[in-house]
Amino acid sequence: MALRTIRTEEDPVLRKKSRIVDKFDDRNNTLIDDLRDTLIDSGGVGLAAPQVGVLRRVVVVMDTNKKDLTPEEQIIELVNPEIVKTEGKQKGPEGCLSIPGICGIVERPEKVTVRALDRKGNEFEVEGTGLTARAFCHEIAHLDGQLYVDIAERMMTEEELDEYYENGGDKK
Ligand code: ZN
Repeated sequence: MALRTIRTEEDPVLRKKSRIVDKFDDRNNTLIDDLRDTLIDSGGVGLAAPQVGVLRRVVVVMDTNKKDLTPEEQIIELVNPEIVKTEGKQKGPEGCLSIPGICGIVERPEKVTVRALDRKGNEFEVEGTGLTARAFCHEIAHLDGQLYVDIAERMMTEEELDEYYENGGDKK
């Protein structure tokens, strides 16, 4: 287990498409373990393999709705994830560990169902709402080289974000 360096916006690896995982071996397990450690260390809610320079379809997302769990227990590991169902809409601020210091207002579904494989290659489905749904969409987009800045309605600095919250945010 180890921390990996999070690549930032100017790194071209973030714009590439990741490959499907077809080997559920030690190398893939180490990648998943390192993504977990790096995510917890960063304080973020999700991390995708291309953000640490690995073009494989693997992401980890924290289910922050499960407040009784520890951060380690909140992590959902998703291999070859696909969004199979969405419901509703939410609009709100979103940031990215690869683009520090700023955020943007992004519209996402309120509820998302993801189909993925676990680290052993077994298929499962998982649902997320609110921030977790947002994180599923954000991280899965990374696997196709897409960043939230491409779809943000407007960008904000951290000071502007504070103001945004003071004014009650966007109405749904
Ligand atoms: Zn991101």
